Amino acid sequence: MQSKQDVINWIEFNREQFIALADAIWEKPEISMKEFFASKLQADYLEYKDFTIKWDLGGLNTAFVAEWGSGKPVIGFLGEYDALSNLSQSRNPFPDPLIPGEPGQGCGHNLLGVGGLAAAAAVKEWLKATGSTGTVRYYGCPGEENGDGKVFMARAGAFDDLDAAFNFHPSSINSASKGSTVGVKDVIFRFHGISSHAGSEPDLGRSALDAVELMNIGVNYLREHVTDKVRIHYTITHGGDLPNIVPSKAEVWYFIRAHKPEELEEVSERIFKIARGAAMMTETRLELIIQGGCSSVLSNHTLADLQYEAMQVVGPIRFTAEEYEFARKIRGHFSQKDLDESLQKYFLPKYPQPYETLKDKSLAAENYPAMDEGEIGTGSTDVGDVSQITPLSMLDTTCEPLAAPGHSWATVAASGSSIGHKGMLHAAKIMALAAIDCYSDPVHLQKARAEFIRSTNRQPYQCPIPDYVNPRQYENPERNKPKLIN
Ligand SMILES: [Zn+2]
Repeated sequence: MQSKQDVINWIEFNREQFIALADAIWEKPEISMKEFFASKLQADYLEYKDFTIKWDLGGLNTAFVAEWGSGKPVIGFLGEYDALSNLSQSRNPFPDPLIPGEPGQGCGHNLLGVGGLAAAAAVKEWLKATGSTGTVRYYGCPGEENGDGKVFMARAGAFDDLDAAFNFHPSSINSASKGSTVGVKDVIFRFHGISSHAGSEPDLGRSALDAVELMNIGVNYLREHVTDKVRIHYTITHGGDLPNIVPSKAEVWYFIRAHKPEELEEVSERIFKIARGAAMMTETRLELIIQGGCSSVLSNHTLADLQYEAMQVVGPIRFTAEEYEFARKIRGHFSQKDLDESLQKYFLPKYPQPYETLKDKSLAAENYPAMDEGEIGTGSTDVGDVSQITPLSMLDTTCEPLAAPGHSWATVAASGSSIGHKGMLHAAKIMALAAIDCYSDPVHLQKARAEFIRSTNRQPYQCPIPDYVNPRQYENPERNKPKLIN
Protein backbone atom coordinates (compact mmCIF):
# COMPACT_ATOMS: atom_id res chain seq x y z
CA MET A 1 0.00 0.00 0.00
CA GLN A 2 2.26 2.76 -1.28
CA SER A 3 0.29 4.91 -3.69
CA LYS A 4 -2.72 7.15 -3.21
CA GLN A 5 -4.73 4.76 -5.35
CA ASP A 6 -3.83 1.97 -2.90
CA VAL A 7 -5.25 4.06 -0.04
CA ILE A 8 -8.48 4.68 -1.97
CA ASN A 9 -8.69 0.97 -2.76
CA TRP A 10 -8.11 0.02 0.89
CA ILE A 11 -11.03 2.19 2.02
CA GLU A 12 -13.22 0.72 -0.74
CA PHE A 13 -12.14 -2.82 0.17
CA ASN A 14 -13.18 -2.20 3.80
CA ARG A 15 -16.29 -0.17 2.98
CA GLU A 16 -18.76 -2.69 4.45
CA GLN A 17 -17.00 -2.52 7.84
CA PHE A 18 -17.21 1.27 7.92
CA ILE A 19 -20.83 1.26 6.78
CA ALA A 20 -21.66 -1.29 9.49
CA LEU A 21 -20.10 0.98 12.14
CA ALA A 22 -21.98 4.07 10.88
CA ASP A 23 -25.25 2.13 10.69
CA ALA A 24 -24.85 0.68 14.18
CA ILE A 25 -24.45 4.23 15.56
CA TRP A 26 -27.39 5.44 13.43
CA GLU A 27 -29.57 2.63 14.79
CA LYS A 28 -28.70 3.45 18.41
CA PRO A 29 -28.80 7.26 18.52
CA GLU A 30 -27.42 8.76 21.74
CA ILE A 31 -27.66 12.42 22.73
CA SER A 32 -24.72 14.67 23.71
CA MET A 33 -22.40 13.34 26.44
CA LYS A 34 -24.28 10.06 26.59
CA GLU A 35 -22.63 8.49 23.53
CA PHE A 36 -21.66 5.41 25.51
CA PHE A 37 -22.27 2.83 22.78
CA ALA A 38 -20.86 4.87 19.88
CA SER A 39 -17.64 5.86 21.64
CA LYS A 40 -16.98 2.30 22.79
CA LEU A 41 -17.75 0.84 19.36
CA GLN A 42 -15.28 3.20 17.68
CA ALA A 43 -12.59 2.77 20.33
CA ASP A 44 -12.93 -1.03 20.15
CA TYR A 45 -12.55 -0.94 16.36
CA LEU A 46 -9.40 1.18 16.53
CA GLU A 47 -7.94 -0.89 19.35
CA TYR A 48 -8.51 -3.97 17.17
CA LYS A 49 -6.56 -2.09 14.49
CA ASP A 50 -3.62 -1.69 16.93
CA PHE A 51 -4.28 1.90 17.94
CA THR A 52 -3.57 2.82 21.57
CA ILE A 53 -6.67 4.20 23.29
CA LYS A 54 -6.79 6.88 25.96
CA TRP A 55 -10.17 7.64 27.56
CA ASP A 56 -11.66 10.53 29.55
CA LEU A 57 -10.05 13.44 27.70
CA GLY A 58 -10.93 16.72 29.36
CA GLY A 59 -12.80 14.84 32.08
CA LEU A 60 -15.43 13.60 29.61
CA ASN A 61 -16.13 9.90 29.89
CA THR A 62 -17.25 9.50 26.28
CA ALA A 63 -14.15 11.27 24.89
CA PHE A 64 -11.16 9.29 23.72
CA VAL A 65 -8.10 9.51 21.51
CA ALA A 66 -6.80 6.60 19.46
CA GLU A 67 -3.17 6.84 18.40
CA TRP A 68 -0.85 4.87 16.12
CA GLY A 69 2.77 5.46 15.09
CA SER A 70 5.51 7.62 16.57
CA GLY A 71 7.24 10.92 16.12
CA LYS A 72 6.38 13.95 14.04
CA PRO A 73 4.29 14.98 12.31
CA VAL A 74 1.23 14.31 14.43
CA ILE A 75 -1.98 14.52 12.43
CA GLY A 76 -5.43 14.16 13.96
CA PHE A 77 -8.86 13.38 12.54
CA LEU A 78 -11.79 14.68 14.57
CA GLY A 79 -14.94 12.62 14.97
CA GLU A 80 -18.32 13.13 16.61
CA TYR A 81 -21.21 10.80 17.34
CA ASP A 82 -24.00 12.60 19.16
CA ALA A 83 -27.61 12.55 17.94
CA LEU A 84 -30.41 15.11 18.39
CA SER A 85 -33.46 14.76 20.64
CA ASN A 86 -36.87 14.05 19.23
CA LEU A 87 -35.74 13.31 15.68
CA SER A 88 -36.36 9.57 15.50
CA GLN A 89 -36.83 8.63 11.84
CA SER A 90 -36.76 5.50 9.67
CA ARG A 91 -34.71 5.14 6.48
CA ASN A 92 -37.81 6.09 4.45
CA PRO A 93 -37.74 9.26 2.31
CA PHE A 94 -40.76 10.71 4.12
CA PRO A 95 -41.39 11.76 7.74
CA ASP A 96 -41.69 8.45 9.61
CA PRO A 97 -40.46 8.35 13.23
CA LEU A 98 -39.28 4.92 14.38
CA ILE A 99 -40.03 5.68 18.02
CA PRO A 100 -41.77 9.06 18.45
CA GLY A 101 -39.93 11.31 20.91
CA GLU A 102 -36.65 9.40 20.69
CA PRO A 103 -33.44 10.91 19.27
CA GLY A 104 -32.14 10.59 15.71
CA GLN A 105 -28.94 11.40 13.77
CA GLY A 106 -30.26 14.78 12.65
CA CYS A 107 -26.80 16.15 11.87
CA GLY A 108 -25.31 12.95 10.41
CA HIS A 109 -22.72 12.56 13.17
CA ASN A 110 -22.83 8.76 12.73
CA LEU A 111 -21.16 9.45 9.36
CA LEU A 112 -18.96 12.28 10.67
CA GLY A 113 -17.29 10.07 13.26
CA VAL A 114 -16.83 6.95 11.14
CA GLY A 115 -15.51 9.04 8.20
CA GLY A 116 -12.70 10.33 10.44
CA LEU A 117 -12.10 6.88 11.89
CA ALA A 118 -11.84 5.37 8.38
CA ALA A 119 -9.35 8.08 7.34
CA ALA A 120 -7.24 7.42 10.46
CA ALA A 121 -7.28 3.65 9.87
CA ALA A 122 -6.29 4.11 6.20
CA VAL A 123 -3.45 6.50 7.10
CA LYS A 124 -2.17 4.00 9.66
CA GLU A 125 -2.04 1.27 6.98
CA TRP A 126 -0.15 3.64 4.68
CA LEU A 127 2.32 4.73 7.40
CA LYS A 128 2.96 1.08 8.22
CA ALA A 129 3.36 -0.04 4.62
CA THR A 130 5.69 2.81 3.65
CA GLY A 131 7.63 2.84 6.93
CA SER A 132 7.07 6.61 7.14
CA THR A 133 7.67 8.47 10.38
CA GLY A 134 4.68 10.07 11.99
CA THR A 135 1.74 9.67 14.33
CA VAL A 136 -1.91 9.42 13.37
CA ARG A 137 -4.75 10.08 15.79
CA TYR A 138 -8.51 9.81 15.83
CA TYR A 139 -10.31 11.94 18.41
CA GLY A 140 -13.69 10.67 19.57
CA CYS A 141 -15.35 13.95 20.55
CA PRO A 142 -18.61 13.91 22.49
CA GLY A 143 -21.27 16.57 22.85
CA GLU A 144 -20.89 18.72 19.73
CA GLU A 145 -24.60 19.54 19.65
CA ASN A 146 -24.78 20.37 23.33
CA GLY A 147 -21.90 20.35 25.78
CA ASP A 148 -18.89 21.76 23.87
CA GLY A 149 -16.95 18.50 24.14
CA LYS A 150 -13.93 19.67 22.12
CA VAL A 151 -13.60 22.83 24.20
CA PHE A 152 -13.14 20.82 27.39
CA MET A 153 -10.71 18.55 25.52
CA ALA A 154 -8.87 21.64 24.24
CA ARG A 155 -8.75 23.14 27.75
CA ALA A 156 -7.07 19.92 28.91
CA GLY A 157 -4.43 20.24 26.16
CA ALA A 158 -5.64 17.30 24.03
CA PHE A 159 -4.81 19.05 20.73
CA ASP A 160 -1.68 20.95 21.77
CA ASP A 161 0.90 18.79 19.99
CA LEU A 162 -1.00 18.36 16.71
CA ASP A 163 0.68 19.54 13.51
CA ALA A 164 -2.63 19.52 11.64
CA ALA A 165 -6.22 18.40 12.05
CA PHE A 166 -8.91 17.36 9.60
CA ASN A 167 -12.61 16.94 10.05
CA PHE A 168 -15.56 16.53 7.77
CA HIS A 169 -19.24 17.29 8.08
CA PRO A 170 -22.10 15.67 6.18
CA SER A 171 -23.50 18.27 3.82
CA SER A 172 -25.00 18.65 0.36
CA ILE A 173 -21.81 19.55 -1.51
CA ASN A 174 -18.23 18.26 -1.80
CA SER A 175 -15.95 21.14 -0.87
CA ALA A 176 -13.37 22.02 1.77
CA SER A 177 -14.25 25.25 3.54
CA LYS A 178 -12.28 28.48 3.65
CA GLY A 179 -15.04 30.20 5.59
CA SER A 180 -15.51 30.81 9.27
CA THR A 181 -18.22 30.68 11.93
CA VAL A 182 -18.97 32.78 14.98
CA GLY A 183 -17.93 31.89 18.52
CA VAL A 184 -20.51 31.53 21.28
CA LYS A 185 -20.79 32.04 25.01
CA ASP A 186 -23.42 30.06 26.94
CA VAL A 187 -24.46 31.91 30.10
CA ILE A 188 -27.21 31.62 32.69
CA PHE A 189 -28.29 34.75 34.58
CA ARG A 190 -30.02 33.78 37.82
CA PHE A 191 -31.62 36.51 39.91
CA HIS A 192 -32.47 36.16 43.60
CA GLY A 193 -35.16 38.39 45.11
CA ILE A 194 -37.48 38.29 48.11
CA SER A 195 -40.82 36.52 47.98
CA SER A 196 -43.95 37.98 49.50
CA HIS A 197 -47.73 37.90 49.01
CA ALA A 198 -48.16 39.65 45.67
CA GLY A 199 -51.69 40.75 46.67
CA SER A 200 -51.50 41.79 50.29
CA GLU A 201 -47.86 42.78 50.84
CA PRO A 202 -46.21 43.43 47.44
CA ASP A 203 -44.11 46.22 48.96
CA LEU A 204 -42.14 43.63 50.92
CA GLY A 205 -41.20 41.63 47.82
CA ARG A 206 -38.32 42.08 45.40
CA SER A 207 -39.09 40.30 42.12
CA ALA A 208 -36.40 38.23 40.44
CA LEU A 209 -38.69 37.97 37.42
CA ASP A 210 -38.73 41.76 37.10
CA ALA A 211 -34.95 41.60 36.92
CA VAL A 212 -35.08 39.01 34.12
CA GLU A 213 -37.59 41.09 32.16
CA LEU A 214 -35.66 44.33 32.61
CA MET A 215 -32.45 42.61 31.63
CA ASN A 216 -34.04 41.29 28.42
CA ILE A 217 -35.39 44.75 27.58
CA GLY A 218 -31.90 46.20 28.05
CA VAL A 219 -30.35 43.53 25.85
CA ASN A 220 -32.99 44.03 23.16
CA TYR A 221 -32.01 47.72 23.03
CA LEU A 222 -28.35 46.72 22.83
CA ARG A 223 -29.06 44.84 19.57
CA GLU A 224 -29.12 48.11 17.67
CA HIS A 225 -25.55 48.83 18.70
CA VAL A 226 -23.68 45.66 17.78
CA THR A 227 -22.25 44.55 14.43
CA ASP A 228 -24.09 42.40 11.88
CA LYS A 229 -22.59 39.07 12.84
CA VAL A 230 -23.47 39.35 16.53
CA ARG A 231 -26.35 37.10 17.55
CA ILE A 232 -27.99 37.16 20.97
CA HIS A 233 -30.75 34.71 21.93
CA TYR A 234 -32.37 33.67 25.18
CA THR A 235 -35.03 31.59 26.83
CA ILE A 236 -36.52 32.17 30.29
CA THR A 237 -35.83 28.91 32.09
CA HIS A 238 -37.46 29.88 35.40
CA GLY A 239 -39.95 32.68 36.00
CA GLY A 240 -41.46 31.95 39.40
CA ASP A 241 -44.14 29.56 40.61
CA LEU A 242 -47.49 31.24 41.20
CA PRO A 243 -48.79 34.71 40.22
CA ASN A 244 -49.62 35.48 43.87
CA ILE A 245 -46.04 34.95 45.02
CA VAL A 246 -43.47 37.61 44.17
CA PRO A 247 -40.83 35.42 42.46
CA SER A 248 -37.73 35.11 44.62
CA LYS A 249 -35.90 33.22 41.90
CA ALA A 250 -35.88 33.70 38.14
CA GLU A 251 -33.46 32.63 35.49
CA VAL A 252 -32.72 33.45 31.86
CA TRP A 253 -30.40 31.43 29.60
CA TYR A 254 -28.42 33.26 26.90
CA PHE A 255 -26.31 32.32 23.89
CA ILE A 256 -24.11 35.25 22.81
CA ARG A 257 -22.38 34.90 19.44
CA ALA A 258 -19.73 37.00 17.67
CA HIS A 259 -16.99 36.30 15.16
CA LYS A 260 -13.79 37.68 16.68
CA PRO A 261 -12.95 36.39 20.17
CA GLU A 262 -12.33 39.95 21.39
CA GLU A 263 -15.73 41.08 20.11
CA LEU A 264 -17.41 38.14 21.83
CA GLU A 265 -15.74 39.19 25.09
CA GLU A 266 -16.74 42.82 24.59
CA VAL A 267 -20.42 42.11 23.80
CA SER A 268 -20.59 39.62 26.69
CA GLU A 269 -19.23 42.28 29.08
CA ARG A 270 -21.90 44.74 27.89
CA ILE A 271 -24.61 42.13 28.51
CA PHE A 272 -23.18 41.39 31.97
CA LYS A 273 -23.40 45.13 32.71
CA ILE A 274 -27.08 45.17 31.70
CA ALA A 275 -27.72 42.19 33.99
CA ARG A 276 -26.00 43.95 36.89
CA GLY A 277 -28.09 47.05 36.12
CA ALA A 278 -31.30 45.00 36.20
CA ALA A 279 -30.29 43.57 39.58
CA MET A 280 -29.61 47.07 40.89
CA MET A 281 -32.96 48.40 39.63
CA THR A 282 -34.92 45.61 41.27
CA GLU A 283 -32.80 45.23 44.42
CA THR A 284 -32.16 41.60 43.58
CA ARG A 285 -28.91 39.67 43.56
CA LEU A 286 -27.38 38.40 40.34
CA GLU A 287 -25.68 35.02 39.98
CA LEU A 288 -23.86 34.74 36.66
CA ILE A 289 -23.14 31.19 35.53
CA ILE A 290 -20.92 30.65 32.47
CA GLN A 291 -21.85 27.18 31.28
CA GLY A 292 -19.78 26.83 28.16
CA GLY A 293 -18.91 28.30 24.81
CA CYS A 294 -16.77 27.81 21.78
CA SER A 295 -14.46 29.81 19.54
CA SER A 296 -14.87 30.88 15.93
CA VAL A 297 -13.44 28.65 13.18
CA LEU A 298 -10.12 29.50 11.51
CA SER A 299 -10.10 27.55 8.26
CA ASN A 300 -6.63 26.74 7.03
CA HIS A 301 -6.54 27.52 3.31
CA THR A 302 -3.36 25.53 2.67
CA LEU A 303 -5.02 22.37 3.98
CA ALA A 304 -8.29 23.17 2.16
CA ASP A 305 -6.33 23.37 -1.13
CA LEU A 306 -4.67 20.03 -0.35
CA GLN A 307 -8.13 18.51 0.15
CA TYR A 308 -9.26 19.93 -3.19
CA GLU A 309 -6.21 18.34 -4.86
CA ALA A 310 -7.11 15.06 -3.17
CA MET A 311 -10.65 15.36 -4.61
CA GLN A 312 -9.18 15.40 -8.14
CA VAL A 313 -7.56 12.04 -7.43
CA VAL A 314 -10.66 10.53 -5.82
CA GLY A 315 -13.13 11.77 -8.47
CA PRO A 316 -16.84 12.56 -8.01
CA ILE A 317 -19.28 10.44 -5.97
CA ARG A 318 -21.12 7.97 -8.16
CA PHE A 319 -24.75 8.02 -7.09
CA THR A 320 -27.18 5.55 -8.65
CA ALA A 321 -30.52 6.38 -10.29
CA GLU A 322 -32.25 5.03 -7.16
CA GLU A 323 -30.25 7.39 -4.94
CA TYR A 324 -31.21 10.40 -7.07
CA GLU A 325 -34.81 9.24 -6.84
CA PHE A 326 -34.53 8.89 -3.04
CA ALA A 327 -33.15 12.45 -2.81
CA ARG A 328 -35.94 13.78 -5.04
CA LYS A 329 -38.52 12.06 -2.83
CA ILE A 330 -37.07 13.67 0.31
CA ARG A 331 -37.06 17.07 -1.38
CA GLY A 332 -40.66 16.47 -2.46
CA HIS A 333 -41.72 16.75 1.19
CA PHE A 334 -40.59 20.36 1.46
CA SER A 335 -42.29 23.25 -0.26
CA GLN A 336 -40.59 24.48 -3.41
CA LYS A 337 -40.54 27.94 -1.83
CA ASP A 338 -38.58 26.69 1.21
CA LEU A 339 -36.13 24.73 -0.95
CA ASP A 340 -35.60 27.77 -3.20
CA GLU A 341 -35.10 30.06 -0.21
CA SER A 342 -32.58 27.70 1.36
CA LEU A 343 -30.75 27.48 -1.96
CA GLN A 344 -30.73 31.26 -2.38
CA LYS A 345 -29.58 31.94 1.16
CA TYR A 346 -27.08 29.21 1.89
CA PHE A 347 -25.93 27.58 -1.31
CA LEU A 348 -26.03 29.94 -4.28
CA PRO A 349 -24.06 32.80 -2.67
CA LYS A 350 -21.13 30.39 -2.27
CA TYR A 351 -21.57 28.04 -5.22
CA PRO A 352 -23.29 29.87 -8.11
CA GLN A 353 -21.46 28.19 -10.99
CA PRO A 354 -21.61 24.64 -9.64
CA TYR A 355 -25.37 24.95 -9.32
CA GLU A 356 -25.68 25.92 -12.97
CA THR A 357 -23.69 22.87 -14.04
CA LEU A 358 -25.52 20.32 -11.87
CA LYS A 359 -27.25 17.85 -14.16
CA ASP A 360 -29.61 16.71 -11.42
CA LYS A 361 -30.45 19.42 -8.88
CA SER A 362 -31.34 16.92 -6.14
CA LEU A 363 -27.81 15.65 -5.29
CA ALA A 364 -24.44 17.34 -5.91
CA ALA A 365 -21.98 14.54 -6.77
CA GLU A 366 -19.12 16.64 -8.19
CA ASN A 367 -16.18 18.11 -6.27
CA TYR A 368 -15.68 21.85 -5.93
CA PRO A 369 -12.86 24.07 -4.70
CA ALA A 370 -13.54 26.20 -1.61
CA MET A 371 -15.81 29.06 -2.62
CA ASP A 372 -16.68 30.47 0.79
CA GLU A 373 -13.56 32.52 1.49
CA GLY A 374 -14.51 35.47 3.71
CA GLU A 375 -17.95 34.02 4.57
CA ILE A 376 -18.86 33.94 8.25
CA GLY A 377 -21.60 31.51 9.20
CA THR A 378 -23.73 32.57 12.16
CA GLY A 379 -23.89 29.11 13.72
CA SER A 380 -21.11 27.83 16.02
CA THR A 381 -19.14 24.63 16.45
CA ASP A 382 -16.59 23.42 18.97
CA VAL A 383 -14.35 22.53 16.00
CA GLY A 384 -13.48 26.23 16.24
CA ASP A 385 -11.45 25.65 19.39
CA VAL A 386 -9.29 23.01 17.70
CA SER A 387 -8.79 25.42 14.77
CA GLN A 388 -7.46 28.06 17.18
CA ILE A 389 -4.80 25.58 18.41
CA THR A 390 -3.58 23.89 15.21
CA PRO A 391 -4.01 24.30 11.43
CA LEU A 392 -7.37 22.71 10.65
CA SER A 393 -9.43 22.07 7.56
CA MET A 394 -13.16 21.36 7.51
CA LEU A 395 -14.48 19.32 4.61
CA ASP A 396 -18.08 19.05 3.47
CA THR A 397 -19.21 16.07 1.44
CA THR A 398 -22.55 15.24 -0.11
CA CYS A 399 -24.44 12.99 2.27
CA GLU A 400 -27.90 14.49 1.82
CA PRO A 401 -30.18 16.08 -0.80
CA LEU A 402 -29.52 19.64 -1.90
CA ALA A 403 -31.20 22.35 0.21
CA ALA A 404 -33.01 19.90 2.52
CA PRO A 405 -32.99 21.48 6.00
CA GLY A 406 -30.40 20.35 8.57
CA HIS A 407 -31.42 19.04 12.01
CA SER A 408 -34.53 17.50 10.45
CA TRP A 409 -36.03 14.06 9.69
CA ALA A 410 -34.58 14.41 6.17
CA THR A 411 -30.99 14.44 7.48
CA VAL A 412 -31.70 11.41 9.68
CA ALA A 413 -33.10 9.45 6.72
CA ALA A 414 -30.18 10.41 4.46
CA SER A 415 -27.59 9.62 7.17
CA GLY A 416 -28.88 6.07 7.36
CA SER A 417 -29.00 5.65 3.57
CA SER A 418 -26.47 4.68 0.91
CA ILE A 419 -26.24 8.38 -0.03
CA GLY A 420 -24.83 9.10 3.43
CA HIS A 421 -22.52 6.07 3.27
CA LYS A 422 -21.06 7.20 -0.06
CA GLY A 423 -20.52 10.75 1.22
CA MET A 424 -18.79 9.38 4.33
CA LEU A 425 -16.39 7.14 2.36
CA HIS A 426 -15.73 10.02 -0.06
CA ALA A 427 -14.71 12.19 2.91
CA ALA A 428 -12.49 9.44 4.38
CA LYS A 429 -10.58 9.12 1.09
CA ILE A 430 -10.11 12.88 0.64
CA MET A 431 -8.94 13.46 4.22
CA ALA A 432 -6.61 10.44 4.13
CA LEU A 433 -4.95 11.59 0.89
CA ALA A 434 -4.52 15.17 2.14
CA ALA A 435 -2.94 13.85 5.35
CA ILE A 436 -0.60 11.57 3.37
CA ASP A 437 0.59 14.64 1.43
CA CYS A 438 1.41 16.24 4.80
CA TYR A 439 3.44 13.22 5.96
CA SER A 440 5.21 12.91 2.59
CA ASP A 441 6.29 16.51 2.06
CA PRO A 442 7.05 18.77 5.05
CA VAL A 443 6.51 21.87 2.90
CA HIS A 444 2.72 21.52 3.22
CA LEU A 445 2.77 21.59 7.01
CA GLN A 446 5.29 24.44 7.06
CA LYS A 447 2.98 26.46 4.81
CA ALA A 448 -0.09 25.54 6.85
CA ARG A 449 1.70 26.53 10.09
CA ALA A 450 2.91 29.86 8.69
CA GLU A 451 -0.65 30.66 7.61
CA PHE A 452 -1.96 29.63 11.05
CA ILE A 453 0.52 31.92 12.81
CA ARG A 454 -0.53 34.82 10.56
CA SER A 455 -4.24 34.24 11.15
CA THR A 456 -3.97 33.95 14.94
CA ASN A 457 -1.70 36.99 15.13
CA ARG A 458 0.52 34.90 17.41
CA GLN A 459 -2.14 35.14 20.12
CA PRO A 460 -2.16 32.00 22.29
CA TYR A 461 -5.44 30.06 22.47
CA GLN A 462 -7.83 31.43 25.07
CA CYS A 463 -10.33 28.82 26.20
CA PRO A 464 -13.82 30.36 26.32
CA ILE A 465 -14.79 28.13 29.26
CA PRO A 466 -13.33 29.23 32.59
CA ASP A 467 -11.37 26.70 34.64
CA TYR A 468 -14.01 26.41 37.34
CA VAL A 469 -16.65 25.10 34.90
CA ASN A 470 -16.91 21.31 34.82
CA PRO A 471 -18.44 19.35 31.96
CA ARG A 472 -21.70 17.48 32.44
CA GLN A 473 -20.92 13.93 33.46
CA TYR A 474 -22.86 10.71 33.28
CA GLU A 475 -22.01 7.25 34.49
CA ASN A 476 -20.86 5.25 31.45
CA PRO A 477 -22.62 1.87 31.59
CA GLU A 478 -20.76 0.48 28.54
CA ARG A 479 -17.20 1.00 29.73
CA ASN A 480 -16.63 -2.31 31.49
CA LYS A 481 -18.61 -4.44 29.10
CA PRO A 482 -16.83 -6.89 26.80
CA LYS A 483 -15.38 -5.45 23.60
CA LEU A 484 -17.88 -4.80 20.81
CA ILE A 485 -15.24 -5.67 18.20
CA ASN A 486 -12.46 -8.24 18.53
ZN1 LIG B 1 -23.21 18.58 13.10
